[in-house]
Amino acid sequence: MRNPIQTTLFLSGLCSTLWGCGSLTEQQQPNEAGKNIADTTTYNITLSADNPYAARVTADTSTLTSFELQPPRSNQRVENKLHPTFYCDDKPIALGTQPRTVSCKQLRWSIFFKPRPELGVNPAAQQNIVSATSSPWWLITEWDSLPRIANVKGTQVCATFGKEQHCKPFPTTDQPPLFMSVGNQLKEYSLGTLDVTLYSELEKEKADELMHKFVEISQYLYEVFPSNDSPSDNDNSWELTWLTKEKSSGHYGGAAGYHSFMANYLQENGQPTAESDAILLRISAHESVHVISRLKLPGWAEESLPQYYAFKALNKLSVDDMTALQFWQQTKEKTPHSQDSLYQAEQQIEENHDMSYFPLVYGKGAAFWNEVDNALQRNGEDLDSYISQLDQQEFREGKLPTAFETSLQNGIGVKAWKKIKSDYLLANSEPVAS
Ligand SMILES: [Zn+2]
Repeated sequence: MRNPIQTTLFLSGLCSTLWGCGSLTEQQQPNEAGKNIADTTTYNITLSADNPYAARVTADTSTLTSFELQPPRSNQRVENKLHPTFYCDDKPIALGTQPRTVSCKQLRWSIFFKPRPELGVNPAAQQNIVSATSSPWWLITEWDSLPRIANVKGTQVCATFGKEQHCKPFPTTDQPPLFMSVGNQLKEYSLGTLDVTLYSELEKEKADELMHKFVEISQYLYEVFPSNDSPSDNDNSWELTWLTKEKSSGHYGGAAGYHSFMANYLQENGQPTAESDAILLRISAHESVHVISRLKLPGWAEESLPQYYAFKALNKLSVDDMTALQFWQQTKEKTPHSQDSLYQAEQQIEENHDMSYFPLVYGKGAAFWNEVDNALQRNGEDLDSYISQLDQQEFREGKLPTAFETSLQNGIGVKAWKKIKSDYLLANSEPVAS
């Protein structure tokens, strides 16, 4: 029932800022749309090899006498935005950036795909992609492509290619975005009570070998992080998409969505390198923390904690012995602002949107958690058992919660904590309070 609440807040926000309150028509809109609550609606996406760069989407809305159509979510990082035209029983709807109340039996629109780049897909770009080969596959994201119908409790998104069909619940606007792969499905795996479906561009045997390692990694991460999953959450499935990327492209990465993530597998002229397996599993571990964890953290911790646990999980399961601290030692010379503290980075990103601080947050941030964990382990403890203590409102402001700091001091000693805090969190000029 999160969606109706979200919708109400959204509308009241519009009322106060854009439309002026008190207009009878606008006040009635939420109620009018609210009368027609349907249990579910399905968006049917039909993909075809004949026209791989566009797909038709339809939704049966005949059980709704009128409904509010909300524009697709937009992501500022997604370049070359496409604006589909929506048709309500063949009548075009001018859906700009505001919701519209409409009435029709069927909604119809098209979504568009970019060709897979020659050097491989960049997951962080989060675009709709097609690999238009003799065995085509598609990557669908909701950005600028899938609108929402207000007050419909469960919308499903089903993609069909020939005989292959698969459906996913459409996340609500307070959840991560929808990512879906079609056409390159490899295999299903079981992860405790979860079903994990792997979509992959990797060679089959290699993907299977890596997937078995990933299952172990994610089981460990599930033990450490307070999870989003609850018995009332009826979507017990994950979708993983592993995409090859040529090293010469200069970058690789991953992206987490709703119960799903994408990660790159590095290649050189189509062949794996010595570091390809570890990089894929490290990105996968990092992204899966985003999917698993329900902790609400400030930016610096939101990225540094998954990054540290990606290293730790691979170390623990003997996949790779590079530690987060070693990685930071190797990379800090070329990391911008490497002398700045994590709290300074947080401030620069939050207040000035200075994204040049991001590498520092990942590198120095992961090294910070590594130092804390090492100190705890020297005292017979482990950071794993401290993670749930980070779940505090105070932390969302940016700095570690006082109770967490006190707890750490008890675990590693005041002097050791002061040193780590001064090395990583505080600006050089800032004295460490006793
Ligand atoms: Zn991340």
